[in-house]
Amino acid sequence: MQQILNYINGELRAPVNNQWLDNVEPATGKVYSQIPSSDADDVALATEAAEKAFQTWSITPVAERSRIMDKIASLIEEKLPELAAAESKDNGKPLKLASHVDIPRARDNFHFFATGILHFASESHAMEDNAINYTLRTPIGVVGCISPWNLPLYLFTWKIAPALAAGNCVVAKPSEVTPMTAYLLSEICIEAGLPKGVLNIVHGLGQHVGNAITEHPKIKAISFTGGTQTGATIAAKAAPKFKKLSLELGGKNPNIIFADCDFEKALKTSVMSSFANQGQICLCGSRIFIERSIYNKFRDAFVEKVNALNVSYPTDPKANLGAVVSKPHMEKVLSYIQLAQEEGGTVLTGGNQVHLSDDYANGYYIEPTVIEGLDYLCRTNQEEIFGPVVTLTPFDSEEEVLTMANSTEYGLASTVWTENLTKAHRMAQQIEAGIVWINCWLLRDLRTPFGGVKNSGVGREGGFEALKFFTETKNVCVKL
Ligand code: NDP
Repeated sequence: MQQILNYINGELRAPVNNQWLDNVEPATGKVYSQIPSSDADDVALATEAAEKAFQTWSITPVAERSRIMDKIASLIEEKLPELAAAESKDNGKPLKLASHVDIPRARDNFHFFATGILHFASESHAMEDNAINYTLRTPIGVVGCISPWNLPLYLFTWKIAPALAAGNCVVAKPSEVTPMTAYLLSEICIEAGLPKGVLNIVHGLGQHVGNAITEHPKIKAISFTGGTQTGATIAAKAAPKFKKLSLELGGKNPNIIFADCDFEKALKTSVMSSFANQGQICLCGSRIFIERSIYNKFRDAFVEKVNALNVSYPTDPKANLGAVVSKPHMEKVLSYIQLAQEEGGTVLTGGNQVHLSDDYANGYYIEPTVIEGLDYLCRTNQEEIFGPVVTLTPFDSEEEVLTMANSTEYGLASTVWTENLTKAHRMAQQIEAGIVWINCWLLRDLRTPFGGVKNSGVGREGGFEALKFFTETKNVCVKL
């Protein structure tokens, strides 16, 4: 059986304790590889290697750092079919999604920050009384990057690429649930000639590896994407050590559909924003609010489209939804569907586990599920389910829908559908979210600030925001 290895100091190696974890293929429910169950000893080795590498990487000319990172981007492109197949197998997502979204975006992350760093400049402030200030931005040192399972290589590289571009050395932990493409990335880094120790990838459980990264005194900053509860645990441990923190956490995003929208576009995109990646994207619009005058029409057309979605094994070209990531996650999502019914909701379509045949009989598949008739404050409408489940709720006024949209502890993303631009801007200003999409969803420009408000996170990723996070800022004041 294939064994995934840690990537420490430029080498692929087994964990110090020689303990291993099973890696399960969600489409079949079968163990298909093993990953290191690393612990603080491996994190210590990785940090030591990173500290050493920092002495040269931090002063390597930007153009050279950029060249190596662009080489990594090219290799990701070259190996796209292999990486997409690995991602789909590891995560359960349709192969076509991994091929068209996940892996191209991982390539773009490296390419974007490889070139972005060439254009990164800092401010200067002239004073009237003959002095000038300028801002120095220097790499921080060793930084930790911890990422989740839903968009494995996509989110892993979204952190690693700006950290490396800015001149830091990295100790990174992918989700233990989806480690395979991070492992393949370590092979790519070796092939691209990334100097040893610049990037270290340590596999294992959050409570061991993630915790050791959070607590290691030599790791100066943590960039984390994952659940809000985990984010709180990390923040509590990192705060007394005064580590820099970037936290991208959960969401419960509103998708607001006004009667004056372009109906067909809103309908088509809402199906995607509800069920893409089995609803396991932090940006999915899981609460759909529909203006009452078009509620019935939208609901019926939406349910009809959802009924036409195909749940199938990931390599089936006809699959719209694949498997959810794990058995515990499937059980969690199904328990929320049960809860929704206990809370008075009506399941309009879906609601059940899907049982495929043959090799896939023990995979983790769930029907895309649409529920109506729930109070906006009930648990189903307040807690993150992170699966193929959406609720429909009618509204009568802008004021009412804003109250409902802003009622959760989260504030990551939102979508507004209206042809009235004034109303769209008004809504954008008042929705409590880090991202507002107007008449679109998941349209991403890597230069824009990305992140959430309230319990959806602290700090912003993307573009120069990420490069600022991964640098230390110093004001230099010169009297002329
Ligand atoms: P988790 O919070 O469970 O895990 C995220 C990462 O943190 C994993 O690598 C995990 O390891 C690790 N981890 C777990 N416990 C600790 C700990 N005590 N210390 C340090 N690290 C730890 O999230 P999921 O993987 O379940 O991902 C789903 C969540 O991610 C959802 O809430 C989703 O909304 C959020 N998310 C947010 C995004 C954003 O940009 N805001 C984007 C994508 C997802 P292990 O796998 O071993 O548990």
